[in-house]
Amino acid sequence: MANNGILISGAGIAGPALAYWLREQGFAVTIVERAPAPRPGGQTVDLRGAGRTVIERMGLMERARAESVDQRGLALVDGAGRTTARMPADSFGGEGIVSEIEILRGDLARLLYEATLPDTEYLYDDTITHLDQDADGVTVTFEKAAPRRFGLVVGADGPHSVVRALAFGPESECVRPLGLYTAWFTATGLDLDLDGWYLMHNAPGGLVASARPGRLPGELKAGFSFRTAEPLVYDRRDTAAQRALVAERFARVGWETPRLLRAMHTATDFFFDSMGQVRLDRWSRGRVVLLGDAGYCATPLTGLGTSLALVGAYVLAGELGAAGGDHRRALGRYDTVLRPFVDQAQELPPGGASGYAPSGRLGIRLRDLSMRSMTRWPLRNLLAAQFAKAGGIALPEYALAEGAATASVR
Ligand SMILES: Cc1cc2nc3c(=O)[nH]c(=O)nc-3n(C[C@H](O)[C@H](O)[C@H](O)COP(=O)(O)OP(=O)(O)OC[C@H]3O[C@@H](n4cnc5c(N)ncnc54)[C@H](O)[C@@H]3O)c2cc1C
Repeated sequence: MANNGILISGAGIAGPALAYWLREQGFAVTIVERAPAPRPGGQTVDLRGAGRTVIERMGLMERARAESVDQRGLALVDGAGRTTARMPADSFGGEGIVSEIEILRGDLARLLYEATLPDTEYLYDDTITHLDQDADGVTVTFEKAAPRRFGLVVGADGPHSVVRALAFGPESECVRPLGLYTAWFTATGLDLDLDGWYLMHNAPGGLVASARPGRLPGELKAGFSFRTAEPLVYDRRDTAAQRALVAERFARVGWETPRLLRAMHTATDFFFDSMGQVRLDRWSRGRVVLLGDAGYCATPLTGLGTSLALVGAYVLAGELGAAGGDHRRALGRYDTVLRPFVDQAQELPPGGASGYAPSGRLGIRLRDLSMRSMTRWPLRNLLAAQFAKAGGIALPEYALAEGAATASVR
């Protein structure tokens, strides 16, 4: 059962990006994904700073630009739909709250997936259930496929990573909850003209309803976020119960919320999750290593999760290649090179979760006021510092392998 190839758990953003770069380094790659097929869904994610450079180095920039969603910027609206503050996309040179290149998460995942074909083996509709490490490799047990052996296992399976749970410990020991929950979905057939703006309405109780343009005509990307003092207990697979929970929270909220709630009930890509940051002192245990949200989720509040995943994938593959497959050396370097970038990206923007979803009317008014002042000194500098973090790493240049996949993990 000898195999010195690499198994990646998760075909979101980080997994396929890593597969691409590992192939460039000459490694054989298998990806296992719990979903039955490439997973659509999600709102726009930002391609910023070093994350954007990784996409350029993959030769995908032109396609990413072609698929990006035009947005004029972020506008806050009150219960009657009146604009109370605006931040145009071109403030901060296209690197503001809404960045110059916003691409739907599902579109980016598809671009990355296509870039890994035909050289990557995909096992859909399956999950790892057990990892057994020894000096030479890892024996992996799956829910459906027969057990197999790999030289390295990478957890790129998101904030609730099964690889992390198996090799590092329970979620409660790795995740710092923000007390914030978010639902995302695509709304179609609504006669709601956004005029190109990402509209956001804050209501008392830490409630945030939002709608932004989708890529296709008549398509909106809607979101509902709320804060709670106590963690919610809910079944992560029961989306009907999650929709009911969101509907109850937003039942008395103004603006376009009633129409968006109705659209939520029929959305086919409804996604609900708690927001929490993954904080770990080490990202590897022997031949098991974490990447992207699984290892260092920063949460959408930072706008940097996708950049972290792309940069992490590039560095991990590059260091494995540079170390000639020596996993100890490579995983040590991965931590050294990436850690300062992750640490600064995980610092939340001013105000954190309560700044994004204030609980009272006064907090909401202050949020409007600070948004209006954000393009001016002194808040401008504070916010510019947050966005500049995306460029906070000098990406190493790694030599690529030539010819067929011959590298192996030692
Ligand atoms: C459906 C969806 C919608 C999202 N929408 C947004 C958004 O609108 N805005 C935003 O900022 N961020 C969003 N995110 C999160 C964002 O994609 C990540 O923060 C970031 O891009 C880092 O990517 P990642 O690959 O580490 O994690 P993810 O993109 O979360 O990818 C993880 C992948 O692992 C898979 N997986 C999970 N468990 C297992 C398992 N046991 N076995 C195998 N595979 C598993 C998941 O199905 C997923 O494909 C979304 C994530 C998902 C999955």
